[in-house]
Amino acid sequence: MLVAFSDFSESPALETDVCITGGGPAGITLAIELARSGREVILVESGGLEPDDDSQELAAGEISGVPYTDLDSVRLRYLGGSTNHWAGQSTPLQPIDFSVRDWVADSGWPIDYNDFAGYLPRAADLCRVSHEEWVLPNNAPTNHLEDAGFRPVLFRFPEPIFGFGEAYRRDLEKTTGLTVILGGHVLGFNSNETGSEVMSVTVGNRAGKRQEIRARTYVLATGGIENARQLLLSGPTESRPDRWPGLGNNHDGVGRYFMEHPAYDLGQVSLTESDDFLSEAYTWIGDDKVRLDLQLDASVQREARILNHSMFLLGSGSRRKSFSERMLSWIKPPDLEFRIRVRLEHAPYADSRVTLSDELDAFGLRRTKLEMRVGDLELATIRHVVESCGRGVGMADLGRLKFDGNSLSEAWIDDAFWQIHHAGGTRMSADPAKGVVDANCKVHGVANLYVAGSSVFPTSGQANPTMNFIALALRLADHLEKGT
Ligand SMILES: Cc1cc2nc3c(=O)[nH]c(=O)nc-3n(C[C@H](O)[C@H](O)[C@H](O)COP(=O)(O)OP(=O)(O)OC[C@H]3O[C@@H](n4cnc5c(N)ncnc54)[C@H](O)[C@@H]3O)c2cc1C
Repeated sequence: MLVAFSDFSESPALETDVCITGGGPAGITLAIELARSGREVILVESGGLEPDDDSQELAAGEISGVPYTDLDSVRLRYLGGSTNHWAGQSTPLQPIDFSVRDWVADSGWPIDYNDFAGYLPRAADLCRVSHEEWVLPNNAPTNHLEDAGFRPVLFRFPEPIFGFGEAYRRDLEKTTGLTVILGGHVLGFNSNETGSEVMSVTVGNRAGKRQEIRARTYVLATGGIENARQLLLSGPTESRPDRWPGLGNNHDGVGRYFMEHPAYDLGQVSLTESDDFLSEAYTWIGDDKVRLDLQLDASVQREARILNHSMFLLGSGSRRKSFSERMLSWIKPPDLEFRIRVRLEHAPYADSRVTLSDELDAFGLRRTKLEMRVGDLELATIRHVVESCGRGVGMADLGRLKFDGNSLSEAWIDDAFWQIHHAGGTRMSADPAKGVVDANCKVHGVANLYVAGSSVFPTSGQANPTMNFIALALRLADHLEKGT
């Protein structure tokens, strides 16, 4: 059932089994899953079915650290969240992303890759991409850079691209036991005095309406940046101690290790003739729309002590051609000159963080401040990938690379662009001093509060986040079904 908060009859305190805050893909997945298992679920979404300025404006915030795009343009606040303008690109995190890498400080997940990967096929279904193995079929174009250590990475796309709000609206309306409140802004989780248990959530609107919701279990799913902010804003409503650090923040971990996915274009590759793998990113395999990129194999990453990444050659247009355009491409000369685009894992840095700004929003709550950092590893990875690409092109006699190594400096980040993937901030760790949630996504030290979304990622790999945190949301649903 979908209900507008403004139409909702106020009651002293609404009670439910599970209260989920945030109706993006993480919240929607979990809400439907839990309601289908017989739980009474309330999902509270700030926006409505369409974009609206009043809700969107609440996403504004302050930026310091490395340059970044305005915070109210990198996320959307209405049902479906940022999938209302995503590209749908999906690929799984890889085993190396879960491992402890001694050259990446604070790397390693507290869960096993296979535990996560068991949920991928259902996550792929929900993202409307094929759940077949993520390997290339035999008839895929040949990767000529294999001798330089590169292996293909397969990305899949839904066709057509869809937003989670629209796509799963019928399930949200019809699933027994599920109530979706639209236009209700979560103003904070109210805890007991010590912050060890959430007692209720306060929902409000600009007309001054307020409603408490009480649940046995609460799940925070307001997005990669907002999840940290919500914890920092939450705590005991009455007699909150001075200098209250926020909920689940006894170790000053909330908001830290924030990660994005930077991408950077450099070098110039001149091919002597067109190469199917290198010059055509988008293709079809059966009914699947896919992209084929390259990455240095995990063994090479270990040896070179670099971050995960993917790369492709960026031509003047061929990389963006649709299938039908490709069929017509015989009438045009093929692209032979390319830039290299490297898309990077962003290493987890404790001082790359979401904090609270001194500016207040329309509800008098402190807005977000994002202070993002990068370090030496990202630069070292770009350099290694480009040099390896040049070596591979030469070894395969495909052409040559022009790249002035001296031109690559710390200033790269000023010309980098971001893929708008928000991760970290409420990272997962078995150790409460090193993370905000445990291996089950429960907030350390808070008995009944969980987090869903990529803010729980300890490291972000090179993969697009959504299908991966949907797999984690399904895993969380399994955990809650057993326990609540
Ligand atoms: C341009 C663009 C392209 C992208 N392309 C891809 C891609 O190709 N592949 C991919 O995997 N990812 C992509 N992403 C990222 C993807 O959109 C996000 O990973 C995903 O939407 C995050 O889901 P979420 O549920 O965690 O949060 P969100 O999508 O941010 O949803 C959070 C929801 O919570 C609501 N909310 C926030 N605060 C409150 C509050 N206080 N009270 C109540 N509700 C609240 C919001 O209104 C929103 O609906 C892209 C993002 C952008 C911006």
